Amino acid sequence: MHNRSFIISVSSLVIGILVSSCSGQTVPQFDARQAYNYLLKQCEFGPRPPGSTAHQKTRQFLVDELSKFADKVRLQPFPFTNYQTKQQLILHNIIASFGKQKKRILLAAHWDTRPWADMDPDPQNHNKPIIGANDGASGVAVLLEIARLLKSHPCPNGIDIVLFDGEDSGRADHPEEFSQGAKYFAKNKTFSYNPKFGILLDMIGDSDLQIYIEQYSQHYAPHIVKQVWGIAEGLGVPEFIPELGHAVIDDHLPLLEVGIPCIDIIDFDYPYWHTLEDTPDKCSPESLEKVGQVVVEVIYRR
Ligand code: ZN
Repeated sequence: MHNRSFIISVSSLVIGILVSSCSGQTVPQFDARQAYNYLLKQCEFGPRPPGSTAHQKTRQFLVDELSKFADKVRLQPFPFTNYQTKQQLILHNIIASFGKQKKRILLAAHWDTRPWADMDPDPQNHNKPIIGANDGASGVAVLLEIARLLKSHPCPNGIDIVLFDGEDSGRADHPEEFSQGAKYFAKNKTFSYNPKFGILLDMIGDSDLQIYIEQYSQHYAPHIVKQVWGIAEGLGVPEFIPELGHAVIDDHLPLLEVGIPCIDIIDFDYPYWHTLEDTPDKCSPESLEKVGQVVVEVIYRR
């Protein structure tokens, strides 16, 4: 769910990525092609709305893939309501943990896709499910590639990758119906689980990438915003624009509410949002790499 408060538009710049290392820690190179393949693989299942066969197959794929890399993978079931159809289902957040360190960082994205292309220019498409190449698959693709890197390159911090289910089935004028998986995760967080911070990735695959600072992130976790945008600048990734953009209702809000400082890295200026045109050709390996490499640099710092 995404609330537009105001719109800024700029032309995007393209610049190469430098891979750095800091404090003697080797920072692995994010593989753009590998990440894009993960995006394609999810889209090959078709639209992945809750209750569909493609949704079930995708869940199995994500669990199998994460199990190759993580120390522990678990499913967190939760009750879900589709308020449009009144259908009730059990959905699953997927939680993959790396390392036993007390100091932990949470990385998140949503893996379900929207059941309705209600922003499609053609009203006949408004009840059809979207492929969600950018809105869904892009964030998950980057986190799967990061999972692969975490296996081969030990990280000084403990990492928890959480793939939320049931994010995008809210009706357009009902913001409270979105983020059902993230709300369940936050509400059921144990007292002792307190990651230092969280980063949510959503809609970061757009080949025309411009990532402004999301407003709730700036308000509630300004220190994390500063760190991430600073690292992007240091790496020479001008797609991270250090100016305020939209205020977006997304999966980071339930985490903020329970005291986890979490930012949302999102490029909300995407003309294919919630349309049937949100397909892989609108996304690029380069965009996944830019976001991926910034996140890798953040999590490999001591
Ligand atoms: Zn969406």
